[in-house]
Amino acid sequence: MKPRILLVEDEAALARGIRMNLDDEGYEVSIAGDGREALSMASREAFDLIILDVMLPEKDGVAVCRELRAKGARMPILFLTALNDVQDRVAGIKAGGDDYLAKPFAMEELSARIAAQLRRVNWGAAPKTGGGELVRAGAALVDFAAFRLTRGGETRDLGVKEAGLLRLLMAHPGKTLPRELILAQVWGDDIHVVPRTVDNFISALRRSIEPDPAAPRHIISVRGVGYRWED
Ligand code: CA
Repeated sequence: MKPRILLVEDEAALARGIRMNLDDEGYEVSIAGDGREALSMASREAFDLIILDVMLPEKDGVAVCRELRAKGARMPILFLTALNDVQDRVAGIKAGGDDYLAKPFAMEELSARIAAQLRRVNWGAAPKTGGGELVRAGAALVDFAAFRLTRGGETRDLGVKEAGLLRLLMAHPGKTLPRELILAQVWGDDIHVVPRTVDNFISALRRSIEPDPAAPRHIISVRGVGYRWED
């Protein structure tokens, strides 16, 4: 499954150029020409990453980012800023942006930043609840910041992939996530994993969080497709 990117850029020629490059690299790119359009597209479709120009008509990029985050959007957001505009960068990061790139930039640098953001999406996709907060996951409580899981008074450490997998599932309640998408998002460019790996991690997680691991109520298998989280 191709990663889907929303490119928010009002300079049409630049937007087309970026899209052409990213198409070649195997991304599926949609373009929004202003802030309002970006918000409406993001509310209708799921994107894995957003490239957001700061200077936009209708609604600027920082405001768009703040609104997306306020609505619970968790995908990485990469800002395009004016060269040396430190204020834009700080504002972007405070609004919930994950990275920024100053214009003009080399396409290679943009695609390297995108790849880096998509690799760490297992954390970027997580609910930003702040460090140390406990999240209920089935019969367990999880501290994603500390990589710890507690159940019935017993605490164990969570592996990075295991925590990333749980976070990814929990970030999309009620939605079936294909194994290939889980692999791409949690394992990224590790080419040594196979879809079966996901199944093994799922088994481990079920033992930790399901009230009855033999009859899962939270991590549901969807035959031939993947897994779904139910709260
Ligand atoms: Ca612009």
